[in-house]
Amino acid sequence: MKYERLNNNVLMPQLGLGVYKVLNEEVTDVVTHALNVGYRSIDTAQFYENEDGVGEAIRNSPIPREDLFITSKVWNSHHGYDNTLRAFEESMEKLKLEYLDLYLIHWPTPMYDQYIETYKALEKLYHDGRVKAIGVSNFNIEHLERVLNECDVTPVLNQVEYHPYLQQDELKKYCREHSILIEAWSPLARGNVLNDPAIVHLAKKHQKSPAQIVLRWHIQQDSIIIPKSVTPSRIRENFHIFDFELSSEDMKKIEKLNRNERTGRDPNEMNVR
Ligand code: NDP
Repeated sequence: MKYERLNNNVLMPQLGLGVYKVLNEEVTDVVTHALNVGYRSIDTAQFYENEDGVGEAIRNSPIPREDLFITSKVWNSHHGYDNTLRAFEESMEKLKLEYLDLYLIHWPTPMYDQYIETYKALEKLYHDGRVKAIGVSNFNIEHLERVLNECDVTPVLNQVEYHPYLQQDELKKYCREHSILIEAWSPLARGNVLNDPAIVHLAKKHQKSPAQIVLRWHIQQDSIIIPKSVTPSRIRENFHIFDFELSSEDMKKIEKLNRNERTGRDPNEMNVR
């Protein structure tokens, strides 16, 4: 496992397991399997309604809490200072944890204009020692600019949709200049990139699976990734990406696949609460 150093010196595993759309009934088994394979980072959220099951897997595991990295996120319905503090306590009750490693604002929902107050609640949780790091998700440059201008703590990362078909060059450059890491959600574009001829060709060349090629491409750009799978063999396969390297030509071939194509919502249009 490789770790990234966040801008507040906390170390975060570069690879974690995402559990969006994993049912609470199945998530305990899925996370337990991932921990047995070697994963140490789990990405959940208030919205996923599976924090209970994630917490159960953590409690059942012999792995010391300090070796794990647990992320959750406040949902759009709980923006605002007090609401966010309440949402955090609800998540902690479900997870039954003493602290979180990373707490994120799930979406900026700029049409409601409460993400600054929401971020200030995250700062309080950080200063009170309830979370080791705070960050944002789905923030565009204009949203990040407001956070940097109006708040005190620089987000450690921005979790955004990022994969070969959506490479977010401008946002990535802005984040790099401000010591904010990119965490890629849908790193496999929900499977859409896996049949791309360029990816299939590289998979044959390296005798790896298409998913391993794409995940390795992310790793070599110093992104943090949280591929989701409920399939035991895929969870294992996605973990084994540290024993080979893509050449700079291989990397460029994948770079050329960019189409600025989203699988998910545009942050400026996401208004669901
Ligand atoms: P991913 O790009 O991780 O793709 C997941 C899909 O790919 C699933 O259908 C999975 O199938 C399949 N898959 C996984 N591994 C392989 C493999 N080795 N070979 C073939 N198929 C594979 O998409 P997600 O949208 O789930 O994103 C990952 C995580 O990012 C989420 O779980 C969540 O934690 C986070 N996220 C955050 C968002 C945000 O707004 N902040 C939005 C969306 C996601 P199967 O499970 O059946 O094996």
